[in-house]
Amino acid sequence: MAAEVIAQAGFNVSIYDAMPSVGRKFLLAGVGGMNITHSEPHEKLLGRYAQASPSLKPYLDIFSAHELCEWIHGLGIETFVGSSGRVFPTDMKAAPLLRAWLHRLRELSVKIYPRHRWLGWADVTQECDAQKFENNLLRFNVNINDITAEKNIHADAVVLALGGASWQRLGSDGAWVNLLRAKTIGVAELLPSNCGFETAWSQHFLEEFAGVPLQTVGLSMVSLTGEKISVRGEAMIAKSGIEGTSVYALSAPMRDLILAQGRANLTIDVLPDFDLNKIIAQLSKPRGKNSSSNFLRKQLNLSPLKLALLRELTPATIWQDSLALAQAIKSLTLTLTGFRPIDEAISTAGGIPFCELNSQLMLKKLPGVFCAGEMLDWEAPTGGYLLTACFATGRAAGLGAVDFLNSPTKMFGA
Ligand SMILES: Cc1cc2nc3c(=O)[nH]c(=O)nc-3n(C[C@H](O)[C@H](O)[C@H](O)COP(=O)(O)OP(=O)(O)OC[C@H]3O[C@@H](n4cnc5c(N)ncnc54)[C@H](O)[C@@H]3O)c2cc1C
Repeated sequence: MAAEVIAQAGFNVSIYDAMPSVGRKFLLAGVGGMNITHSEPHEKLLGRYAQASPSLKPYLDIFSAHELCEWIHGLGIETFVGSSGRVFPTDMKAAPLLRAWLHRLRELSVKIYPRHRWLGWADVTQECDAQKFENNLLRFNVNINDITAEKNIHADAVVLALGGASWQRLGSDGAWVNLLRAKTIGVAELLPSNCGFETAWSQHFLEEFAGVPLQTVGLSMVSLTGEKISVRGEAMIAKSGIEGTSVYALSAPMRDLILAQGRANLTIDVLPDFDLNKIIAQLSKPRGKNSSSNFLRKQLNLSPLKLALLRELTPATIWQDSLALAQAIKSLTLTLTGFRPIDEAISTAGGIPFCELNSQLMLKKLPGVFCAGEMLDWEAPTGGYLLTACFATGRAAGLGAVDFLNSPTKMFGA
């Protein structure tokens, strides 16, 4: 996005990426159906960024879901709004969009240099014009045809869009954190966001249900600040614990609770569409010759996974007590003992705090160096919010770079 607006303003732009091709995580996001943004009202969308919402607002006010969709349509890709309000390209894929986008960049004469790993800033003390080069002489490791070499590249302005630290094999490895910290820029620790959580399932439960979706449950938790947060949706039983869309939606407060207390309780409402009284009434009917599992299954239409989950998380004694059983169905407690490693997460929390950046996303300590995307300190649930903020900040950083290039002296110390 930055490259596009800078090139449109008439400047020469080069993109350097460590990987053999660009946009690998973008392509991966298309594998499960590329959810590019969300159709909900703008104010609601802003709220998804929680504490970072005021910092992101200026960029999202200018380039939000509506402008993003127009931009996609401008690339010849149609979009549709799914039943959940999420927005997708019509074919649900990322590849056609990326192809059209790269074609536009090529038409704008943007040059792309894959296999160029940025290593930080070159030592400019030997340069005759050290002041001019200070922030913009970049060191790269170039790996082409199995030949590795280092080279320095000078740029009049730089936009860093290096991503977070999840799915390292796609390029974003978070190595930039130390490069910026060495320049005395404060970077908040990178942590997993939209991640899975750990719990110790019994062996027999795992053998039957690892990888099985837990459909339509209510999940709730009490955050560190005492707020009850509830979501409804799907989860997935994983070997190491639990994951899935509705778990990801709670991942930020859940992770913070585990960081502070070492564990967190997740409350599962197995039947969110039934109120407690209805369940009690169903369970009070005569059992006849049915086993307790059979009776439950017939009365409440419980899936084998939901039944097994009840067995897994409740003492055997409550199975003879209709009231206690009904209460357990509405609020099973699952104790989570950790979160999965950042590399497995959908996205990354932490990064460059907004206080290190000016309003145009330029690093205050490094004039001429702008930052965008997931490397900034914000997080959001899944739902298209991640890409939306990456697009908006990418565009804003690009426009900032254009202003800087047009009037570099004005920006110093801004
Ligand atoms: C499985 C999965 C599914 C997802 N699905 C969705 C979705 O449906 N909707 C949504 O909104 N979001 C989704 N996301 C999140 C979304 O893909 C990311 O938030 C987004 O790609 C981040 O964009 P970015 O440009 O900031 O970073 P990235 O896309 O990570 O790009 C960073 C780039 O920087 C390069 N780089 C890093 N370090 C260096 C270096 N030192 N030198 C040179 N190059 C370097 C990397 O190679 C990479 O190409 C998904 C993520 C995952 C993992």
